[in-house]
Amino acid sequence: MLSQKIYSTFTSRSAGDSLSEQILVLLDQQKKTWPQLAEGYKALELIRLRKVECDGFSVHLQFNPKRIVSSGARVDAKSISERKCFLCVDSLPEEQKGILYRDQFLVLCNPAPIFSQHYTISNVNHIPQEIEKFLGIFFLLAKDLAGFTVFYNGPKCGASAPDHMHFQACPSGVIPAERDVEEVRRRELIRKVGAVSCFMISDYGRRLLVLESADAAGLESSMLNLLRSMKKVLATTEEPMLNILCSFHQNTWRVIIFPRRKHRPDVYFREGDAQVLISPASVDIGGLVITPIEKDFQTVDATMIQNIFEEVCVSKSVLDKIIGGM
Ligand SMILES: [Zn+2]
Repeated sequence: MLSQKIYSTFTSRSAGDSLSEQILVLLDQQKKTWPQLAEGYKALELIRLRKVECDGFSVHLQFNPKRIVSSGARVDAKSISERKCFLCVDSLPEEQKGILYRDQFLVLCNPAPIFSQHYTISNVNHIPQEIEKFLGIFFLLAKDLAGFTVFYNGPKCGASAPDHMHFQACPSGVIPAERDVEEVRRRELIRKVGAVSCFMISDYGRRLLVLESADAAGLESSMLNLLRSMKKVLATTEEPMLNILCSFHQNTWRVIIFPRRKHRPDVYFREGDAQVLISPASVDIGGLVITPIEKDFQTVDATMIQNIFEEVCVSKSVLDKIIGGM
């Protein structure tokens, strides 16, 4: 049973309008009634962008000082256990409203946005970040949020609340990888199982897989297969490290998966001027790299980006093994 607090604070979806329309209305309302959110979006007007041409692909750097909270967050077990969970309903700010989704998740406005519309979609319960049990609702959410991309950061790959299950959503097509994976020259169909096509993307500076299908059940079973294979190849019983972007367009789901081997690159942990505060999660690894520090925004070059991507993503040989085990 959901607590009374959730019902009194958050509205269920109203019939008629689509979820996409409702969350746009929510954002407009919240900008008027929640000063912290209004300030976050005002700060977004001041961000700067810089394109960096890398070998075979390009990325956009986004100078966004407000994201220091997320990029600089301590995500080790001790720090997490000692802080108050900011996604739990009881600790949300008084002004924060949301939309209850299928009695399981709350669609909330993110007060430190990277995008012109940026949402956090958190479970109503304080349960660990873990994708396997939530694949079905992940795909449903992407379908109900037409025009948006829903993304997932693994608990050790950029989730700033690894102890509280959540997704995020942004307008579709803003993360460069979403457009890049559509380029025919990059796509290699490696497998078709039932109605699910699996592609590898080449010449992209990091390894990723793309699953496409109009069949949600088939897609879920392919994802479960992929997770099983990753666990085996990466020799872990925990959730394998990964970031996932999912969108639904023309009756078809597209899921972009970045298998990871590391969360933060070595340069993140250097001291003084040698430190580069890039903490790659879905958005960054997708090609929109957030730099909360101005020095990094000005100095990060193609070599730095390529090295970071190589360091935090799995190698080609590991990806080949993962595909072989699917
Ligand atoms: Zn929580």
